[in-house]
Amino acid sequence: MSFESFKLDDRVERGLQAAGYKKATPIQTAAIPSILAGHDVIGTAQTGTGKTAAFVLPILHNLLAANAKEPGGRRTRALIITPTRELAEQINDVVNELGKFTSLRSATVYGGVGMQPQEKALQQGVEVIVACPGRLLDHLNRGNARLDRVEVLVIDEADRMLDMGFLPSIQQIMKQTSPRRQTLLFSATFDAAVEQLAAKSMRFPQRFSMGTDAPTSTVAHTLYPVPQHLKPGLLQRLLDEMTVNSILVFTRTKHRADRVVEKIKRAGYAASALHANKSQSQRKLAVDQFRAGKIKVLVATDIAARGLDIASISHVINFDIPDSATSYIHRIGRTGRAERLGDAFTLVTHEDKDTIRDIEKILGSPIERRLLEGFNYREASDKDPVALPSRHTYNRVRSLKRQYA
Ligand code: AMP
Repeated sequence: MSFESFKLDDRVERGLQAAGYKKATPIQTAAIPSILAGHDVIGTAQTGTGKTAAFVLPILHNLLAANAKEPGGRRTRALIITPTRELAEQINDVVNELGKFTSLRSATVYGGVGMQPQEKALQQGVEVIVACPGRLLDHLNRGNARLDRVEVLVIDEADRMLDMGFLPSIQQIMKQTSPRRQTLLFSATFDAAVEQLAAKSMRFPQRFSMGTDAPTSTVAHTLYPVPQHLKPGLLQRLLDEMTVNSILVFTRTKHRADRVVEKIKRAGYAASALHANKSQSQRKLAVDQFRAGKIKVLVATDIAARGLDIASISHVINFDIPDSATSYIHRIGRTGRAERLGDAFTLVTHEDKDTIRDIEKILGSPIERRLLEGFNYREASDKDPVALPSRHTYNRVRSLKRQYA
């Protein structure tokens, strides 16, 4: 569907053209008219579906249409809360890009960087705040921002924010906004906690599901059964065999991310780690270099990679399987974005059986198991030289093969 039928403000229309968007994505087609009409909206959509523009476009239009120029300068009229700094920056980029021809101003607010620049921006006045909950509360407590004139509140990636323990902060933030506000809530998955948040914060919401409780259909999934100690070797072989484009590797812990980076750097790949022990500037550098293609492999933990918007990610490799099916879908949402094809490889050990079953349930079909030809699955663990478990390892691999055949 073309954007013309939404009859957006000319200035927003020009922003759209400059951004090069031609056709609305399904979530945009579904949600934009409702948001324009002022309804509360619940969207089941993950990153990669165009959901950011689905709320940014009608918000910009509505802010311009109400044209509430008042004496006393700018006031905050739209608040977008989101779980991570990276996401806040990405949403803010979309606001700036699509709002380029408007005079609306926006600011980002998140932790891990100095308070002062944010304080200054807020005090100068912005119509749109894109914030992570914790830091926003700090600013509110210091009187740096007021939310009583907020016309629209967006709760982005609600499931993830609740997972991260942000519920009390979100509730405190909501209390400071007007009860007459419009509320838009987006979440990749829905469980009782998200439903409860929606019930408490919204009035007669309209629901749009893009069927994205399962990942984008453009992603091909494969499982690689492998004993734990052979994972680094298998990863390297996988990298050797693919045309290395932009590959996002997930590990369970920060420490494992660092170890994997060391290993693949030694094998000659430009790689970097992205996790919470890295400073904000290190994280930004890693993401920028990855986006520019200077780094081919980015090794990340879940939280750090949340919401990464890099159109060209060709493969997601789960070095460690995620802890839940939901988080698998979040990870996989990083590839196959905006209709591109993507591959999702997951290295699995026999301990991962239950999670695999959950993932397959959500996907609605079994995932292909593959063994890498020519890879020495029998290699012993050098951590356990005493047991010299070549036979043991061999049997384990055989049992893995049987299990996953
Ligand atoms: P999102 O799901 O909001 O993270 O968006 C995913 C990517 O799709 C972003 O890089 C957007 O810039 C891009 N995008 C969003 N809407 C459109 C559209 N209608 N046409 C082309 N690209 C789009």
